[in-house]
Amino acid sequence: MPHTGNQVLRTIDAFDRIGDENAFSVLARATQLASQGRDIINLGIGQPDFPTPPHIVEAAIKALRDGQHGYTPATGIAPLREAVSADLHRRLGVEVDPGLVLIVPGGKVTMFVAILMFGEPGAEIMYPDPGFPIYRSMIEFTGATPVPIPIRESNDFAFSASETLSLVSPRTRLMILNSPANPTGGVTPRGEVDALAAGLAAHPHVAILSDEIYGQMTYDGLEHASLLAYPDIRDRLILLDGWSKTYAMTGWRLGYSVWPKPLFDKARKLAVNSWSCVNAPAQYAGLAALQGPQDCVGDMMAAFDRRRALVVEGLNAIPGITCRTPLGAFYAFPNVSAVAASAKALASRLLEDTGVATIGGPDFGTLGEGYLRLSYANSEDNIARALARIGDFLAA
Ligand code: PLP
Repeated sequence: MPHTGNQVLRTIDAFDRIGDENAFSVLARATQLASQGRDIINLGIGQPDFPTPPHIVEAAIKALRDGQHGYTPATGIAPLREAVSADLHRRLGVEVDPGLVLIVPGGKVTMFVAILMFGEPGAEIMYPDPGFPIYRSMIEFTGATPVPIPIRESNDFAFSASETLSLVSPRTRLMILNSPANPTGGVTPRGEVDALAAGLAAHPHVAILSDEIYGQMTYDGLEHASLLAYPDIRDRLILLDGWSKTYAMTGWRLGYSVWPKPLFDKARKLAVNSWSCVNAPAQYAGLAALQGPQDCVGDMMAAFDRRRALVVEGLNAIPGITCRTPLGAFYAFPNVSAVAASAKALASRLLEDTGVATIGGPDFGTLGEGYLRLSYANSEDNIARALARIGDFLAA
């Protein structure tokens, strides 16, 4: 009997545990339907619909013309690491040694490195539920035990410091937090972040990964409370941030992390062993983004703010759906439990029957059941059309 490939190749069990990001599958299906001539409105994918600002694109083109074609240091080009440090100081008033800034190929890479660094069988890693699906996927990949931190609608989708701290055990190695949050748009208020940082003093064995990729995306003048600003936990805090959302650069694959000194070199070595460095022109583009005018960020947020109003008002006008006003990012997370027993089935029917792509809440964790995620990174006209189609579908 000839062997087929999957009978002779034996991969490690971890690859049977690794998860997925359904937003990419929904995007693929939406693109397929659109190529068949269907009128698809995509409220599924989490990326700004704006182009990268021209001065950033030009900086990458100039870098290529200037001959920036080679490897850079694995940690990133020095001016970019310095610019990240300056930007954190400008935004958060925090001093960061540029020597602890690691430039990485996308925000996701920091969670990959941090989870690999702390995850192993017997260890516990806490992560938000509902939350970005890759946290849990990577935790399971390492064999560590995933411990969900409940993110509740009744708490306006902020994390609760007391509930989070109550879940810490002697086996907790890493606590992952995300504010402003995907998929809920929740922003944890400063008082709660203060309480969490203070409570962590009792748990010195716990490292913290703070995913602040939406840190500049808040509304109504709400200030983003960064965990980087708490000196008492700096020696165990990993900051995840990047350019993807703030500067509409998802396809450039550019992110950064700030590491505590004892961890930095471990992260650097993983970089050397895998991606070597981030592609050079993207790094020069990132430099132009941080050093250039910032009005592009404000303009984009003003557009998101108008769409946020439209989407929240429109969803609440549909009988059976309720939607809190998200305070950050560009996602609405309406409660659809009164109109659908399965949010994933509803998302699938909305795409197949009405051409509106959304993501079912369970794709972000078990506590996501009863919710849909709508990304309002789409035109006001498309948002209005999508809401009308959802309303008609549910009324039929
Ligand atoms: N963290 C969160 C909470 C996200 O929502 C995303 C992207 O959707 C990322 C990280 C990853 O960002 P990047 O595209 O830069 O890898």
